[in-house]
Amino acid sequence: MQFSKRVNISPSATLEINSLALKKKKAGEKVFNLSAGEAFINTSKYIEEAGILAITENKTYYTPTLGINELRTASYNWINKKYGAQYSLEETFITNGGKFALFILCQSLLNPGDEAIVLAPYWVSYTSMIELAGGNPIILKTQKENNWKIDPEEIRKAITDKTRFLILNNASNPTGVLYSREEIRIILKIAQEKNILVISDEVYSELVYDGQKYISCSSFLEYKNNVIVVHSASKIFSMTGWRVGFVFAQSEIIQVLNRVQGQSTSNTSSISQWATVEAFEHADEIISEIKIELQNRRDVFVKTFNDLFSSNIVVPSSALYCFIPMKDFGVIQNNSVEFCKEVLEKSNVAMVPGAPFGTEGYIRCSFGVISNEICEALNVLHKFLKR
Ligand code: PLP
Repeated sequence: MQFSKRVNISPSATLEINSLALKKKKAGEKVFNLSAGEAFINTSKYIEEAGILAITENKTYYTPTLGINELRTASYNWINKKYGAQYSLEETFITNGGKFALFILCQSLLNPGDEAIVLAPYWVSYTSMIELAGGNPIILKTQKENNWKIDPEEIRKAITDKTRFLILNNASNPTGVLYSREEIRIILKIAQEKNILVISDEVYSELVYDGQKYISCSSFLEYKNNVIVVHSASKIFSMTGWRVGFVFAQSEIIQVLNRVQGQSTSNTSSISQWATVEAFEHADEIISEIKIELQNRRDVFVKTFNDLFSSNIVVPSSALYCFIPMKDFGVIQNNSVEFCKEVLEKSNVAMVPGAPFGTEGYIRCSFGVISNEICEALNVLHKFLKR
């Protein structure tokens, strides 16, 4: 069979490990899950009931491609109120999750040969999405010693006349790093001067711990025309399977997305959209419960890991993951893919290698599962590695 050259992309590393783990589970084996890109916290009753109501009230037809007005309004009101943004209905768009929002943006903004800047470690899908749209990802590496932050001057130097946008993932998967107001301001100023867009992937914005304040690119009104915010109900409302994402951007961009979505997915599930309207009604309560629980799971992960491995890993400020140097596991090898495969194969502990995030020598561990499972997984892992 002949396939398009475009599909010569790597499979999603996270999904690949997850499916290997699922295979083992199906075969009746117990798998210890430190690989999930989601928090195992049930969707709130408010949301659940709104979903059921949408079904019984027959809100089950196609919706407008842009999304239902009720959800568009609820989401822009939320980001405006929370972060001092100034988005309107025409600047708000509903997608099948944040992932499709990013995908459709790459499809809509890139011509073959165009460049898009990505900061490593990066979320695994960015580079493939850029490539699928015919673009070239330009990867700028960041270092742990600099707290995984980019020197903005490096961005300036990397911009050419082919550069269309930079993807800024704040809060970051996999490092949990948060950018400060001043750091963001400098990056946006460069984007404006060089006439490129910043796609700000903010899907983890509400999973920020220890009372730290999240700074959204949407709050910089002076740079509004250079900013596209991608958001999602997945992580902030624990609604991963419902597949609801958002794009906030100039209406000119939204109109193009609307055309592309109209020829692809048509719309996000009507039921999920109605359920998410209710999520925004109770946003503060739902988010606060999720955040407290995840901060607790993070602390359990870090303490258990440090106790078992006599280590002192970085406590992530946000998101769902610890990004851990392989040497902290007490191993001398540096091939993260081989390491994760061997660990999963032989000890049934699933973790994600750093290599597909553009940073070899690290392992991403999720603290999305409940605390008991975190402890169990780390104990099994420790026993296996000390064999
Ligand atoms: N952006 C980042 C950094 C992510 O980690 C994810 C999911 O793991 C997404 C976007 C997309 O999430 P979703 O499609 O569930 O909204």
